[in-house]
Amino acid sequence: MRRGFKSEAERCAIAARQKLGIAMSAPFDSWAYATHLNVILLDFNALQLSAATVRQLTVVDDDSWSAMTLNEDGVLGVVLNPAHALTRQRYDLMHELAHIELKHVPARVEVSKTGMLLLSDFSDEQEQEADWYASSFLLPRDGIYALRSRGKSPAEIAANYGVSPALCEMRLRLTGVEIQMRRASAR
Ligand SMILES: [Zn+2]
Repeated sequence: MRRGFKSEAERCAIAARQKLGIAMSAPFDSWAYATHLNVILLDFNALQLSAATVRQLTVVDDDSWSAMTLNEDGVLGVVLNPAHALTRQRYDLMHELAHIELKHVPARVEVSKTGMLLLSDFSDEQEQEADWYASSFLLPRDGIYALRSRGKSPAEIAANYGVSPALCEMRLRLTGVEIQMRRASAR
């Protein structure tokens, strides 16, 4: 990831929470943020995608896709896999919004029968950026640090923010919060 990206993500996450009136310790509302960015939530069944794409997404690869971003005449929409848990949808929607906010350009674009563009195939670097950005919004470093300092477990913090325990544990590790805690308790 490029230099300065992580602190930029942290700053944007805090600014977004302030704009939407979401407290540092509250679950992030990815849906409200989509509205704020003028991104529309779309229903998968209403998309009129090609038969091949529908087959790919619902039969061949139904477990592997979580969200898609579409562009119709410059209007952006996101489709979430309705079969997935709310914790996952919250994350996946924010991941898609991250691609949009960071102005990522996909390597490949599919076109639906109605001329809608299905944006896909971002580079690995762009995927990493979107993951980091989304995690920063859902689990801001200052927020998880504060809760961890008060003795909350990773599972409790995950429940607090409406994310999966795995995501929370990863974030506690990657932000250095966990190691900071261990050093503090060893003192
Ligand atoms: Zn992505």
